[in-house]
Amino acid sequence: MESGKWISEVANGYGTTLEITEHLFSKKSAFQQIDIYQTRKLGKLLMLDGIIQLTSFDEFAYHEMMAHLPFYTHPCPEKILVIGGGDGGVLRELAKHPELKELHICEIDADVIAACRQFLPETACGFDDPRVAIHIGDGSKFVREHKNEFDIIIVDSTDPGGPGEPLFGEEFYLDLKAALRPGGVIASQSESPYLLPDIVLRLNTLTNKLFKFADYAIMQVPTYPTGQIGMCIASDARDVHPQASEVPEELQKTLRYYSPLARCGSFGHPHFVSELLKKAKQ
Ligand code: SAM
Repeated sequence: MESGKWISEVANGYGTTLEITEHLFSKKSAFQQIDIYQTRKLGKLLMLDGIIQLTSFDEFAYHEMMAHLPFYTHPCPEKILVIGGGDGGVLRELAKHPELKELHICEIDADVIAACRQFLPETACGFDDPRVAIHIGDGSKFVREHKNEFDIIIVDSTDPGGPGEPLFGEEFYLDLKAALRPGGVIASQSESPYLLPDIVLRLNTLTNKLFKFADYAIMQVPTYPTGQIGMCIASDARDVHPQASEVPEELQKTLRYYSPLARCGSFGHPHFVSELLKKAKQ
């Protein structure tokens, strides 16, 4: 069988390799190396500094969970902030909720947005919603300058190291807390418990220390290292396990991953993760 070229993400002693047929875009921006490829079997692939950000094949899983899980944790969200998220996937999912009034995104790298708009329109269509306001800048600085403003803040960041580094520290989480309106909820990309247990422990220790309610949800995303990634979810004013709200039938038809049952399942952890989370609460 004819074989294309193979491209790997290699980090933390672990490799993920995908077959590609075309290099569609390459640019060294002010912040990172941006590459978009056509893969043989998995649609398009976005990499930043050699790290897989999404493929067309499984991006729905991550984006639906990052958007709808926090959305259904808040009883009446109106104003949401996304930090990072330059591919537009989280915005695309949030835009499915007519009750939202304002959708703000603070992405550090305008070149990521431009490249995704050109080569990944199925994901970047999230930017086209008229409720979206785009802010270009460092998300850690943006939250520091906004107090008591958002019902939900979603941190859809790259991994620590590179421009995402400030989005993993205590100061940032304190600023996130201060940027929430009463009743607010945060959700943040929080890595794989198999590969990066130290980061998972650190972030969960932070959210448990700073917020009254905190937990960690895991979603299955085959092209992320170890096939899964976690999300910290936290709030001062409400339990992060509300009675699982029904998803309206018309919206559910557009979703492939998120459902009330998938939501509950994302908090049902294998024993080693439960032990890690127990430590985070001590
Ligand atoms: N789902 C992906 C993952 O977990 O690998 C993340 C996707 S999204 C493309 C990540 C975005 O975060 C990138 O576009 C990057 O430019 C942005 N980013 C990194 N550091 C940032 C910062 N300090 N402020 C705002 N955006 C940042």
